[in-house]
Amino acid sequence: MHDGQMRVRFAPSPTGPLHIGGARSALFNWLLAKASGGKFVLRVEDTDLERSSRESEEDIKNALRWLGLGWDEGIDVGGPHGPYRQTERLGIYREYTQKLLDSGKAYHCYCTDEELEEERRSLSEKHQMPRYMGKCRDLSEADEEKYREQGRKPAIRFRVPADQEVVVNDLVRGQVVFDSNGIGDFVIVKSDGVPTYNYAVAIDDALMKITHVVRGEEHLSNTPRQVLVYEGLGIQPPKFGHVSLILGKDRSKMSKRHGATSVEQYKKQGYLPSGLLNFLALLGWSHSGEQEIFTLDELVKIFSLDHAAKNPAVFDVDKLNWINAQHVRKLSDEALFEMALPHLLGSGLMLEGAHERSWLVKVVATARDHISYGAEIPKHVEIYFKDEFSFENEETEAVLREESAAGVLDLFEEKIKKAGELTAESVQALLKGLVKESGLPGKKVYMPVRVALSGQIHGPEMTLLIPLLGGQKILKRLEYVRGKLKG
Ligand code: GLU
Repeated sequence: MHDGQMRVRFAPSPTGPLHIGGARSALFNWLLAKASGGKFVLRVEDTDLERSSRESEEDIKNALRWLGLGWDEGIDVGGPHGPYRQTERLGIYREYTQKLLDSGKAYHCYCTDEELEEERRSLSEKHQMPRYMGKCRDLSEADEEKYREQGRKPAIRFRVPADQEVVVNDLVRGQVVFDSNGIGDFVIVKSDGVPTYNYAVAIDDALMKITHVVRGEEHLSNTPRQVLVYEGLGIQPPKFGHVSLILGKDRSKMSKRHGATSVEQYKKQGYLPSGLLNFLALLGWSHSGEQEIFTLDELVKIFSLDHAAKNPAVFDVDKLNWINAQHVRKLSDEALFEMALPHLLGSGLMLEGAHERSWLVKVVATARDHISYGAEIPKHVEIYFKDEFSFENEETEAVLREESAAGVLDLFEEKIKKAGELTAESVQALLKGLVKESGLPGKKVYMPVRVALSGQIHGPEMTLLIPLLGGQKILKRLEYVRGKLKG
């Protein structure tokens, strides 16, 4: 889709951390802005005063920054259409509300919560869609005065025209038509003077000159209300694109039950921003070719809403792990080390400054092809840190209890003591020599050496492990394992 320069936005409500669904919306919008040379705006929708917090706002911004989805305009960075936090825009909404009131497109509603609840209940009983039936639609000035004298504080409702088709030409879903009779006059400003989401969002998108609103399908049912607000104000609405819902593997709505749901949690587990973004891109969008691994730059080139799916996307953590693993494989040794460090420290395997950095970098590199995310690194490199270990199982221990094993270890020790620098090549030569001198089959030599150094039968390659352990640690481990067999 090429649509000229797009002005798109991500408009989170700061009521918690950045969730996977929100991150996916942010990514899609960001990609559309980059691809079209347009602008990506970050607006904070904090009109739910009770649930919104600055802390959540910070968390969301940090998560976006970590993902690399920076914004061109919005909170913190500013721009020509600010302020970008809705609670700082109350004066702006008031102006528009006055226009709607003056033209009769909105009216004061004095109904109490109890009265509204009663109306909902009675409609449900009659199997009718619960909606506001317009009790305060045509109050006289005297009626209003009476309510005010009773101390009632009015909300403001939008007067929804009867018998109208509200059409949303959705970029993903095609034409979706809503019947205005099913909508009911909705509140645009609550009695405390704070606007509701459906109202503020329309004014902000209009004033911020948003060209395309791309968000999750859960907002499709809100869209006719927003379209009515645009109509009421005589403003051309933006284009809408509602991307698919994200479901858990059991096809129910994605929730905590399905595992981590926030970007922060994935960050903590050591997923890469590039891996997570690649995975998110494929939630509700697919590429026409076979390719599944993409960098952000590649996505900018090929992403478009033309290939956005209507069907729900399934959040498959195995797929995320596979994708992230592909991104891990591409990391340099240094980058992999940076990724590993907090996990190594957090796991208690090592203390800060206890090892040489160059050694650590090499150790961590041995895990690269075996892990999907950072938290998996410690268990793969544990063997380089722990000189004392237990045997994996009885079968492992039995390898060292074979008659020829003790002799092999003695000979190995002798050779290590005499060896110069231990490199992959010199270790290979050393082990070959060991096989030859012992007169045993290769397996009877390699297996006891491996188990003596690692406690495992299927541990890392000896040509990797031995040079990284170095002579001193190897001698220590041989002594330890001999003691273990005696004890
Ligand atoms: N504040 C809304 C939310 O977080 C934004 C929805 C929209 O993009 O319009 O769900």
